[in-house]
Amino acid sequence: MDGPPENDFCSICHGNFHLPSQANCSHWFCTNCILQVWNHGPALQPCKCPLCRRQITLLIPSEASSRLRHNAEVSEILQKVETYNRLFSERSNDLVQAVLSTIYVLSPVDIIPEGVLGIIGLLDDLIILFICFLHVAALYRSVLVNRHGGS
Ligand SMILES: [Zn+2]
Ligand SMILES: [Zn+2]
Repeated sequence: MDGPPENDFCSICHGNFHLPSQANCSHWFCTNCILQVWNHGPALQPCKCPLCRRQITLLIPSEASSRLRHNAEVSEILQKVETYNRLFSERSNDLVQAVLSTIYVLSPVDIIPEGVLGIIGLLDDLIILFICFLHVAALYRSVLVNRHGGS
Protein backbone atom coordinates (compact mmCIF):
# COMPACT_ATOMS: atom_id res chain seq x y z
CA MET A 1 0.00 0.00 0.00
CA ASP A 2 1.37 3.37 -0.99
CA GLY A 3 -0.54 5.58 1.45
CA PRO A 4 -3.22 5.55 4.13
CA PRO A 5 -6.77 4.64 3.10
CA GLU A 6 -8.78 7.57 1.79
CA ASN A 7 -11.24 9.18 4.21
CA ASP A 8 -9.12 7.90 7.10
CA PHE A 9 -7.48 10.24 9.56
CA CYS A 10 -4.58 10.13 12.00
CA SER A 11 -5.78 8.67 15.29
CA ILE A 12 -3.25 10.73 17.27
CA CYS A 13 -3.99 14.26 16.06
CA HIS A 14 -7.43 13.39 14.62
CA GLY A 15 -6.52 15.36 11.53
CA ASN A 16 -5.58 14.61 7.96
CA PHE A 17 -2.36 12.68 7.54
CA HIS A 18 0.72 14.84 7.32
CA LEU A 19 3.64 12.80 5.94
CA PRO A 20 1.98 9.49 6.73
CA SER A 21 4.00 6.47 7.86
CA GLN A 22 2.77 2.93 8.25
CA ALA A 23 3.75 0.95 11.32
CA ASN A 24 4.51 -2.75 11.19
CA CYS A 25 1.05 -3.40 12.67
CA SER A 26 -0.36 -1.86 9.44
CA HIS A 27 -1.79 1.26 11.12
CA TRP A 28 -1.06 4.67 9.61
CA PHE A 29 -0.05 7.83 11.49
CA CYS A 30 1.45 11.19 10.68
CA THR A 31 5.15 10.49 10.96
CA ASN A 32 5.57 13.37 13.37
CA CYS A 33 2.66 12.19 15.55
CA ILE A 34 4.02 8.69 16.03
CA LEU A 35 7.53 10.06 16.67
CA GLN A 36 6.05 12.28 19.36
CA VAL A 37 4.39 9.28 20.99
CA TRP A 38 7.81 7.63 21.02
CA ASN A 39 9.41 10.80 22.48
CA HIS A 40 6.99 10.66 25.40
CA GLY A 41 8.23 7.20 26.41
CA PRO A 42 11.69 5.77 27.05
CA ALA A 43 13.95 6.54 24.09
CA LEU A 44 15.55 3.12 24.02
CA GLN A 45 12.28 1.24 23.84
CA PRO A 46 10.01 0.99 20.84
CA CYS A 47 6.67 2.73 21.33
CA LYS A 48 3.38 0.89 21.24
CA CYS A 49 0.74 1.48 18.60
CA PRO A 50 -1.92 3.77 20.14
CA LEU A 51 -4.60 1.76 18.30
CA CYS A 52 -3.70 -1.89 18.77
CA ARG A 53 -0.97 -1.67 21.48
CA ARG A 54 1.41 -3.77 19.43
CA GLN A 55 5.06 -2.84 19.61
CA ILE A 56 6.13 -0.73 16.67
CA THR A 57 9.46 -2.00 15.40
CA LEU A 58 9.23 -0.58 11.90
CA LEU A 59 7.91 2.67 10.45
CA ILE A 60 7.57 2.91 6.69
CA PRO A 61 7.01 6.42 5.31
CA SER A 62 4.62 6.48 2.37
CA GLU A 63 6.15 6.97 -1.05
CA ALA A 64 4.65 10.45 -1.20
CA SER A 65 6.48 11.33 2.05
CA SER A 66 9.76 9.97 0.70
CA ARG A 67 9.39 12.05 -2.44
CA LEU A 68 9.38 15.24 -0.32
CA ARG A 69 12.82 14.37 1.05
CA HIS A 70 14.41 17.47 -0.54
CA ASN A 71 12.43 19.55 1.97
CA ALA A 72 14.68 20.15 4.99
CA GLU A 73 11.89 19.64 7.53
CA VAL A 74 10.73 16.45 5.87
CA SER A 75 14.22 15.02 5.54
CA GLU A 76 14.80 15.65 9.25
CA ILE A 77 11.65 13.72 10.11
CA LEU A 78 12.56 10.91 7.73
CA GLN A 79 15.99 10.70 9.32
CA LYS A 80 14.35 10.22 12.71
CA VAL A 81 12.30 7.39 11.21
CA GLU A 82 15.49 5.80 9.93
CA THR A 83 17.04 6.09 13.38
CA TYR A 84 13.94 4.55 14.89
CA ASN A 85 14.04 1.65 12.45
CA ARG A 86 17.74 1.08 13.02
CA LEU A 87 17.15 0.97 16.78
CA PHE A 88 14.18 -1.34 16.83
CA SER A 89 13.86 -3.16 13.54
CA GLU A 90 14.74 -6.82 13.80
CA ARG A 91 14.32 -7.26 10.09
CA SER A 92 18.04 -7.64 9.34
CA ASN A 93 18.46 -10.27 12.07
CA ASP A 94 15.42 -12.07 10.77
CA LEU A 95 16.87 -12.01 7.26
CA VAL A 96 20.17 -13.53 8.36
CA GLN A 97 18.32 -16.18 10.32
CA ALA A 98 16.02 -16.90 7.40
CA VAL A 99 18.96 -17.29 5.01
CA LEU A 100 20.83 -19.53 7.44
CA SER A 101 17.84 -21.73 8.12
CA THR A 102 17.07 -21.93 4.38
CA ILE A 103 20.62 -23.10 3.70
CA TYR A 104 20.30 -25.55 6.55
CA VAL A 105 16.96 -26.92 5.30
CA LEU A 106 17.88 -27.02 1.61
CA SER A 107 21.29 -28.62 1.91
CA PRO A 108 21.51 -32.34 2.53
CA VAL A 109 23.32 -33.14 5.74
CA ASP A 110 26.31 -34.73 3.95
CA ILE A 111 27.09 -31.54 1.95
CA ILE A 112 27.41 -29.28 5.01
CA PRO A 113 28.13 -31.56 7.94
CA GLU A 114 27.94 -29.95 11.32
CA GLY A 115 31.69 -30.41 11.75
CA VAL A 116 32.34 -27.98 8.89
CA LEU A 117 30.00 -25.40 10.44
CA GLY A 118 31.91 -25.84 13.70
CA ILE A 119 35.23 -25.22 11.94
CA ILE A 120 33.80 -22.09 10.27
CA GLY A 121 32.70 -20.88 13.69
CA LEU A 122 36.15 -21.57 15.06
CA LEU A 123 37.79 -19.71 12.14
CA ASP A 124 35.59 -16.73 12.96
CA ASP A 125 36.92 -16.68 16.50
CA LEU A 126 40.50 -17.09 15.27
CA ILE A 127 40.11 -14.12 12.90
CA ILE A 128 38.82 -11.95 15.74
CA LEU A 129 41.73 -13.08 17.94
CA PHE A 130 44.15 -12.32 15.09
CA ILE A 131 42.72 -8.80 14.66
CA CYS A 132 43.01 -8.21 18.42
CA PHE A 133 46.60 -9.43 18.27
CA LEU A 134 47.39 -7.01 15.42
CA HIS A 135 45.92 -4.14 17.44
CA VAL A 136 47.97 -5.05 20.51
CA ALA A 137 51.11 -5.42 18.39
CA ALA A 138 50.58 -2.01 16.77
CA LEU A 139 49.99 -0.48 20.20
CA TYR A 140 53.10 -2.13 21.60
CA ARG A 141 55.18 -0.92 18.68
CA SER A 142 53.99 2.67 19.07
CA VAL A 143 54.87 2.50 22.78
CA LEU A 144 58.37 1.28 21.90
CA VAL A 145 58.78 4.04 19.30
CA ASN A 146 57.67 6.64 21.83
CA ARG A 147 60.11 5.39 24.44
CA HIS A 148 62.92 5.30 21.93
CA GLY A 149 62.11 8.83 20.77
CA GLY A 150 61.93 10.06 24.39
CA SER A 151 65.33 8.73 25.50
ZN1 LIG B 1 -1.35 13.04 13.21
ZN1 LIG C 1 -1.53 -0.76 15.33
